[in-house]
Amino acid sequence: MSKDRTINELIEAVRSSDQAVRAKAAVDLHRHPCDAAVEALTQALTDDSEEVRQNAAESLRVMVVRGECRIPSKPLLESLKREPDRWALKECLRELGLDSQVEEILSQAHTAGPKYEVRCMGFGCPHCGVEITRAPSWPAHGDMVPFYAQAHLYQTGAYHIELICRGCGKTVYVVWDRDPS
Ligand SMILES: [Zn+2]
Repeated sequence: MSKDRTINELIEAVRSSDQAVRAKAAVDLHRHPCDAAVEALTQALTDDSEEVRQNAAESLRVMVVRGECRIPSKPLLESLKREPDRWALKECLRELGLDSQVEEILSQAHTAGPKYEVRCMGFGCPHCGVEITRAPSWPAHGDMVPFYAQAHLYQTGAYHIELICRGCGKTVYVVWDRDPS
């Protein structure tokens, strides 16, 4: 009985309005291999908080590895389409024997999106160092006004664009302090 109550408390906590409470519950739920916990974790994969999504994916991965309960693959595949870089999701799906679907999603994620036809002054990807020489768009004076490439949008500057690095598939932010248009 006490174990059931704990699961119910955790399920309530993972739906809390407090992000820190949700994040912790998403970790703790992996100790309860049952359908209710899997369902709550699956829902947490769409949480607004990156930390909650990450914790939920990691808990599901641990449950898959242990093989203690059935994990539906469809929500995992949908989540991977939204977040192709999330390692725990990929591992979860590979553990479920869905390698080919994972590869298909990853290759689509990295070829979809805007065409990269505009040439720009080359710069290194802040994630992987690959030289980026093309962008989906580039301001008229983008090469003349000093800019910097960031892995995260720490400072927005006066003007910025986002693009996906072809080398690593991660988002790169290019920021100008003065309007380069
Ligand atoms: Zn890169």
